[in-house]
Amino acid sequence: MKICVIEGDGIGKEVIPEALKVLNLLGNFEIIKAEAGLECYKKYGYYLPKETIEKAKEADIILFGAVTSNPKDKNYKSPIITLRKLFDLYANVRPINNFGLGEIVGKIAGYKFLDIKSIDIVIIRENTEDLYVGREKENADKAVAERIITKKGAERIVRFAFEYAKDNNRKKVSCIHKANVLKITDGLFLETFYKISKNYNIEANDYLVDATAMHLIKNPNIFDVIVTTNMFGDILSDEASALIGGLGLVPSANIGENKALFEPVHGSAPDIAGKGIANPMAAILCVSMIFDYINENKKANLIREAIKYCLINGKTTPDLGGNLKTKEVGDEVIKYIKEMI
Ligand code: NAD
Ligand code: MN
Repeated sequence: MKICVIEGDGIGKEVIPEALKVLNLLGNFEIIKAEAGLECYKKYGYYLPKETIEKAKEADIILFGAVTSNPKDKNYKSPIITLRKLFDLYANVRPINNFGLGEIVGKIAGYKFLDIKSIDIVIIRENTEDLYVGREKENADKAVAERIITKKGAERIVRFAFEYAKDNNRKKVSCIHKANVLKITDGLFLETFYKISKNYNIEANDYLVDATAMHLIKNPNIFDVIVTTNMFGDILSDEASALIGGLGLVPSANIGENKALFEPVHGSAPDIAGKGIANPMAAILCVSMIFDYINENKKANLIREAIKYCLINGKTTPDLGGNLKTKEVGDEVIKYIKEMI
């Protein structure tokens, strides 16, 4: 199997090497390195060079770090959004899981009001449509963005969510939307959700996105699997990450028919980049998602056990209350896995 590895910018360059240590310890992959992002742009004049696209095409799997955006430059196209579109990676899976360690993770992360023992929610975000289609225009007195929801797009993401729930013994799928206001676009999404839900023996319900923002803080365990449109999924997954100590613990998979891209949910974190203190756990958990994807679940579980061991023993970076460096957390994970295999 070929894996194209794109570290990107900022802490992407710090966390991906730790993930690669784990990937190479447990698997036998051909690693193809490629460049993208703001630093790459400054060097070669391209955010996502043709060469990178070719390497990504050639690979079965892409492991992506994070890139820094460049909002002032209108020619800038986000490399990650471009890759999702290019390979039609329509399903973005974001597990929000504290491994049953709510008291520990909640406390060390400083969330005194949140010590819910077990949080285990999976957010499935449509990844190719909605406001992220990049169709914005402006004239003298207004700026307009198109929000696209297609029947095909809604159907395949909803079906993906129910299949995911079935395969992973999940009890419920909730559709998150704003169909009370966005009657046509989210109306289509919600209608599709209930239509497809009839094919499954899994509980199906729905919530408005604004209420969901509140429920996630107040009563997160009413959720099991969430399926939602692109932007709501983007925002809700960052919010939900706070339930488990922040972005340092949230990996994600972008899945299409023939290819998958794995990336931590976090960005390039310029505020901590270069200090060697970025939490590599999200990137390392991406490797466990890679092993799940290729049906090597034992290896995937072993990686999660290693992360759990680090959390229980305070072997963490400062964002989770520890004092280890990025590399040291990676080393602890490697040490644990070596003892277990
Ligand atoms: P961010 O995710 O980079 O950081 C948000 C906050 O979380 C920061 O305080 C950061 O220090 C902290 N954080 C994030 N990851 C962490 C980790 N692994 N360990 C410890 N702390 C961590 O989001 P931002 O600051 O809003 O954006 C920074 C840049 O990243 C922007 O240019 C943005 O566009 C880009 N971005 C890229 C992606 C991507 O590549 N997929 C995703 C989100 C943001
Ligand atoms: Mn985001």
